Amino acid sequence: MSNKLKLATIWLDGCSGCHMSFLDIDERLLALAEKVDVVFSPLVDCKEFPEDVDITLVEGALGTEEDLHKIKKIRARTKILIAFGDCAVTANIPSMRNPFGVEETLKTVYLDKEAINQQIPGEPLPPLLPRALPLHNYVKVDLFLPGCPPSAQTIFTVLNDLIEGRTPDISALTRFGA
Ligand code: SF4
Repeated sequence: MSNKLKLATIWLDGCSGCHMSFLDIDERLLALAEKVDVVFSPLVDCKEFPEDVDITLVEGALGTEEDLHKIKKIRARTKILIAFGDCAVTANIPSMRNPFGVEETLKTVYLDKEAINQQIPGEPLPPLLPRALPLHNYVKVDLFLPGCPPSAQTIFTVLNDLIEGRTPDISALTRFGA
């Protein structure tokens, strides 16, 4: 059995830009791969979030009941949960719908702004929460990694520090635009 740390990544209400920045780590992904097993991610084919994950990067805010179900399971199965990017840290872009409420948001997006096929989708789309909120409103977050998106250098440094058993200095990393 592997002694490597188990790393997971997931995006909830995000644009995938934070994951794109993760991929921008480029060849240093190979160095990371020597130290971690990626056990769950859009990058690997795994349907069920596994038990005993060491580090999970969560991109995106919580905007649906399905997101809540997922984040509670992730929290229960993860040692170090990282709010990955501004949408996870502050709700950022997804929270722009908050002042309008669910009904008005759906009406504007699917009826008023659509030229054809005007209808508000029902099942199987998950119901929206009244407001899109950051992760820490629902679960304990161990590390906040701000940025829209966080830079590849910052992501690499944070992961490398955690893998090496160090506490990352997030404020220094983000302040100097690493
Ligand atoms: Fe996209 Fe920025 Fe949100 Fe990341 S923080 S999911 S890049 S909008």
